[in-house]
Amino acid sequence: QRFPVVVVGAGPAGLTVGCILRAGGVDCLVLETESREVIEHRPRAGVVEEWAVRGLERRGLARNLLERAQVHGECEFRFAGERYRFRYAELSGRHHFIYPQQFLVTDLVREYADVRGGEIRFGVRDVRVHGVDSGRPSVSYVSPGSGERRVVECDFVAGCDGARGVTRTAMPPERVRVSRYDYGVGWLALLAEAPPSCDCVVFGMHPRGFAGHMARSPEVTRYYLQCPPGDAPENWPHERVWAELRERLGAAGAQPLTEGRLIERRVLDMHNYVVEPMAFGRLFLAGDAAHLTAPVAAKGMNLALHDAFLLGDGLVARLTEGDDGALAGYSARCLARVWDYQEFSQWLSEVYHGTASGDPYRAGTALARLRRLFDSPVAAAAFAEQYLGTRTTG
Ligand code: FAD
Repeated sequence: QRFPVVVVGAGPAGLTVGCILRAGGVDCLVLETESREVIEHRPRAGVVEEWAVRGLERRGLARNLLERAQVHGECEFRFAGERYRFRYAELSGRHHFIYPQQFLVTDLVREYADVRGGEIRFGVRDVRVHGVDSGRPSVSYVSPGSGERRVVECDFVAGCDGARGVTRTAMPPERVRVSRYDYGVGWLALLAEAPPSCDCVVFGMHPRGFAGHMARSPEVTRYYLQCPPGDAPENWPHERVWAELRERLGAAGAQPLTEGRLIERRVLDMHNYVVEPMAFGRLFLAGDAAHLTAPVAAKGMNLALHDAFLLGDGLVARLTEGDDGALAGYSARCLARVWDYQEFSQWLSEVYHGTASGDPYRAGTALARLRRLFDSPVAAAAFAEQYLGTRTTG
């Protein structure tokens, strides 16, 4: 069997690439290890930057998002028992859209498979990528039905298989550099069956550790609690979680937290990595397969979409017009935004975690960063630009 492009992974990156290819008249096959049911119900991100929404809209992929997403233009920092509203839409005219990742994935699967007629093979096992440095690459996998290994030949492979994927291992180690950064903290990621307790994202800086509140939908709210790295979710029973959230997010005049059943409770290993370059031969990586940013600044899904727009457009240009320019510049253009977001996440992490570090020097500099946002219009404008990802980096 042969397809011009095989896309490995049906997350936001892979499905967006697939949709762009189908719209551009390029056939492709998407391979996914999970079932459709699983990927359409897997909650993760929820904050989409406005430029990414516009990118989806231009490609006919944002109809439901624009109808259903909440639009946010403010966030709130809480520290030393006080609340500080940061009105970034007033400064920049730009917003965030709150739309759970599983809703976006559901929309993209429907658009790709049901509307644009693209093929996805779910439940595949042991995916392997072959010959990407030759002109004739292929991808093989074990079929869930027959248990047989199938081979699909192609011109290009889009490696969109996330942080635990296999495609990046097809790059020879001597030709890639992997940079890593460990925040040295854990985050307990929680989903509560409860409406949001504030009309915006809340960041709580507290000597006991960072806490975050992020709306997901009118019925579900994401919370984060800083915890020791490698901590076990079982150490965080319902009562302890809510007591810590109340303590760390407490501030004068704040609405009390609306509690609810915890439907997700897992400890995130807070680290980042970047794979450079993001392409080797006929293999192009996109999204978490190429770079991870812990959810400090809610950047991961946005970067995945940025890569997917560039990769989808570049593959269409190459396969329909023979124009190689966009693919040749793909890695460098993606990495400019990747490193910009990495730096911002690192900066913001110090603000979140400095107070609880036990080091009075780090606590002091964290507070200085925060104060600057509220007493320097220039610092506030720079923060808004980075928080919204509006700087044009490629
Ligand atoms: P993925 O979504 O991981 O998709 C990869 C797909 O490939 C998956 O469907 C997987 O099943 C499949 N796959 C894996 N291995 C293989 C294989 N060998 N063969 C075939 N298929 C395979 N980002 C934000 O922008 N904002 C946020 O607020 C935010 N919050 C987050 C909260 C949490 C708790 C977590 C975990 C992440 C968060 N992120 C956030 C990050 C965001 O979820 C990821 O960056 C995003 O999912 C990346 O999309 P992707 O398509 O690159 O990878």
